[in-house]
Amino acid sequence: MGLIEKCSRYTRAREVQASGFYPYFIPIEASHDTEVVIGGKTKIMVGSNNYMGLTHHPYVLERAKEALYRYGTGCTGSRFLNGTLDLHVELEEKLAELMGTESALVFSTGYQTNLGVISTLVGRGDHLFLDKLNHASIVDGASLVYGTVHRYAHGDLRALERQLQAVPDTAHKLVVTDGVFSMEGDIADLPSIVALTEKYGAELMVDDAHSIGVLGPDGAGTAAHFGLSDKVLLTMGTFSKSFASIGGFVAGPEVILHYLRHHARSLIFSASMPPASVATVLAALEVMKREPERRDNLWRLTHRMQEGLKSLGFDIGHSETPIIPVVIGEMEDTFVMWKALFDAGVFTNPVMPPAVPESQCRLRISLMATHTDDHIDAVLEAFATVGRAIAVI
Ligand code: PMP
Repeated sequence: MGLIEKCSRYTRAREVQASGFYPYFIPIEASHDTEVVIGGKTKIMVGSNNYMGLTHHPYVLERAKEALYRYGTGCTGSRFLNGTLDLHVELEEKLAELMGTESALVFSTGYQTNLGVISTLVGRGDHLFLDKLNHASIVDGASLVYGTVHRYAHGDLRALERQLQAVPDTAHKLVVTDGVFSMEGDIADLPSIVALTEKYGAELMVDDAHSIGVLGPDGAGTAAHFGLSDKVLLTMGTFSKSFASIGGFVAGPEVILHYLRHHARSLIFSASMPPASVATVLAALEVMKREPERRDNLWRLTHRMQEGLKSLGFDIGHSETPIIPVVIGEMEDTFVMWKALFDAGVFTNPVMPPAVPESQCRLRISLMATHTDDHIDAVLEAFATVGRAIAVI
């Protein structure tokens, strides 16, 4: 079978396209932070990861522009060779300061960070333990390791303990967990995970993609939120969410990052973050520090939205963060609900199998510090009207 024949057998997406309910790859014509223009119409954006609302902050834009003109549009090479700017080094210093670690290492995306860190550090004879709802980049990193991969049901720490127990004491063990789970919006039970890693001599890495900026007194993420920063060996983060840019990093002991700098293939064999993107993150770090009220507003709006949806009768699962899943059920109802909300001016993200079980399809809302109370009211009103019309509530 040729590739054209093989690919044309995939018909699922074309069927949804033909039905008029296809919710993916929608071109946005203009973006104004919390509102976007699509097909000439303004929609409230509750489907981004722009938690701090910094993509349009005047200071951030100015710093990005300065870097663009000083260094040009791209680095045209890997960090390893010609692609390290003084800006990358400055960013690594600032990130290590935020995370309270010896060092930090910047990659071109968060996906590449997980891929590089996990595949490089877990070798033959080692054991890797993953929550089943960890992000795809962790799963893909795990698919490259020569060691043994164990996966436990989401949050099932008894299963994790059984798996840890079954591995010889002398083997190297690494547990990797999302800090905030991206489709559920719940926070990992880090205190219990740390208790297990200590009991069984395992090491711990946390994916803080959705936690940095959001959790912890200075936005330093999940470990800081629980006061456990010294118990986590490695923390990874992304710049594609709170930091309003693109890129990723890992923070931890210098000796490990030194090893990664010289062995992580996704770092060495890929071009580095472009100058304007690095300057954006540096500026975002400054604004996050200077304007802590952003985080306070994000949390206030989050609680309003969670309470509002619950009181309308929606099932929001175990959301504890600005990621709020609204469980609809079957795939068809979810597409219909998504389209009705979209037509009513609300941009959400539909989450379908295999990301969630068949009967647990959902719309995922994520909030920004720059949303207003009027946005929350309008979104709740749209959910109420549409939810009643299609009998979800
Ligand atoms: N980890 C988690 C939990 C994520 O949600 C994401 C992005 N969706 C990533 C890693 C990858 O980050 P990036 O977008 O920078 O590749």
